[in-house]
Amino acid sequence: MTAADMIRGTTDMQIHELAPSGGPSLALHGGAGGRVEELALDGRAAYEDGLAAAYAAGWAVLESGGSALDAVCASVEVLEDDPLFNSGRGAALTSTGNVELDASVMTGSGSAGAVAASRYARNPVRLARCVMEQTGHVLIVDPAVDLVAGFGLEVVEPEYFVTDARRQQLERVQAARAAASRHGTVGAVARDAAGSVAAATSTGGMVNQSDGRVGDTPIVGAGVYARDGVVAISCTGHGESFIEGVVAHDVFARIRYAGAELADAIAAAFAAEIDSRGSTGGLIAVGGDGRIVVGHNSPAMFSAHGTSCVPEVHS
Ligand code: ASP
Repeated sequence: MTAADMIRGTTDMQIHELAPSGGPSLALHGGAGGRVEELALDGRAAYEDGLAAAYAAGWAVLESGGSALDAVCASVEVLEDDPLFNSGRGAALTSTGNVELDASVMTGSGSAGAVAASRYARNPVRLARCVMEQTGHVLIVDPAVDLVAGFGLEVVEPEYFVTDARRQQLERVQAARAAASRHGTVGAVARDAAGSVAAATSTGGMVNQSDGRVGDTPIVGAGVYARDGVVAISCTGHGESFIEGVVAHDVFARIRYAGAELADAIAAAFAAEIDSRGSTGGLIAVGGDGRIVVGHNSPAMFSAHGTSCVPEVHS
């Protein structure tokens, strides 16, 4: 790969770009993996309805002058509550049938919070935000039920997250002796009217993953990153590759230090760090100017994005 290719990108990924409007911007994803299987379970319309509802929740925040952080959290909470998506209720199960949830938030001012292997907070993204705002920490693993309750968050039993569809999916994957290859995560990025950006990502990880395995979602720089004036990013895909490639930060660095355009930075980061590992996935990004880029090298990615109350929805 030449230096020019490093900036421009050479990958065959699908990229959708939406120009900035001067007002707020919002983009969501609902995962880039397992689409065929997921659609066979419940049909495409239900996923699109879920994304539209999540978009509406985030847009309502932005439209009323709320912060990018409030918007991304509002959108991700709706997706966590929707059992179709692999986050919160309806998350993918580990090899022993447990739910271990990962989530993160980051603001463009450089603050981050995250949880890994979370089991008691109904909305892991809220817990991640509490970690950011109310502890001196960035990442808490296996957060205790007392910690969740202490933040005043809704506590649920781990069984709340487990759905029949995910049990059946785990049985199918284990019967086929397949690798833990089905993935799908949710995330949101936004730029608010004041020009600040934020990102949030939430997942159940990969179906049939080992208990204790943590992917890229709660790792700052891998599955989430934000910096005002540059970009906010939320990733989905094979987490190990996103960690090894530090993909969200790689996109940021190409823009910040090499002067790349957002779409070119994404294409180049995927070529260098995801394609090169034989991996798949996608990401959503909002630039410092409010432009939105949705990109994936997987066959499809659920997404909704826009600069008004009506989003473009892709599945
Ligand atoms: N990236 C997530 C993980 O590896 C899974 C996904 O995005 O589907 O845990």
